[in-house]
Amino acid sequence: MNEIEAFRQYLQERKQSPKINYHQEALKEMERIREEKEQKPTLLLHACCIICACWPLDFLHDTFDVTVLFHNPNIWPEEEYNLRLSEFRRYLKERWNNEIPLIETPYQGEEFMKSLSFGKDHPEGWKRCFFCYEERMRYGFAMADRNGYDYFTTVMTFSRQKDSQKFNEIGARLQKEFSHTRYFFSDFKKDNGQLKSKAICEAYNLYRQNYCGCVYSMLNQKGNDPDQRQMDRVE
Ligand code: SF4
Repeated sequence: MNEIEAFRQYLQERKQSPKINYHQEALKEMERIREEKEQKPTLLLHACCIICACWPLDFLHDTFDVTVLFHNPNIWPEEEYNLRLSEFRRYLKERWNNEIPLIETPYQGEEFMKSLSFGKDHPEGWKRCFFCYEERMRYGFAMADRNGYDYFTTVMTFSRQKDSQKFNEIGARLQKEFSHTRYFFSDFKKDNGQLKSKAICEAYNLYRQNYCGCVYSMLNQKGNDPDQRQMDRVE
């Protein structure tokens, strides 16, 4: 069986398997925290871009003391990485007056693309992506645990193109490896998350990329043109 066939079979099996409503899990955990804790717990929030992060920040802010981690060696090329990061900084300044701390890791795209090359022909959402999700989540989880954060999570469950069950499964597995930090289960696209994000993006005129991040997703994007991508920004 080739990778495309294996991916199709995987999707079929996923469709038939029972799903957990992780948005409900998130709401329950937040309610529990508000009832039991006097102080807001700390949460390290891995964020891939401001489009995916703007609504989760609104959602989490009243319950948690949030710090954002921008760790995305999957973004190619460096100018795109810098653009997504600068939009992130701009939004935190304009919307949050820089009250939410942002941790940035240096660009490591060259090295990371080599580690993704095993799956250069994989369809998006398959094993190359599983590797990519887990590398970034593991990095963030380890940082959160090392620095005593109460919770870690990622905004990547926001994306409609990605399987939120998968992120939560990875999060649950990683949680067993770390002694202090707990994984915060989520599905940020639920409860009209996409519409809420769209409204924020329009209000702040945020740059919307048209590919996921790596060089393979960039090349697979039909009619991809860096100049056109810049024009995607609503003027
Ligand atoms: S398509 Fe996105 S998630 Fe998949 S490997 Fe590329 S950057 Fe990572």
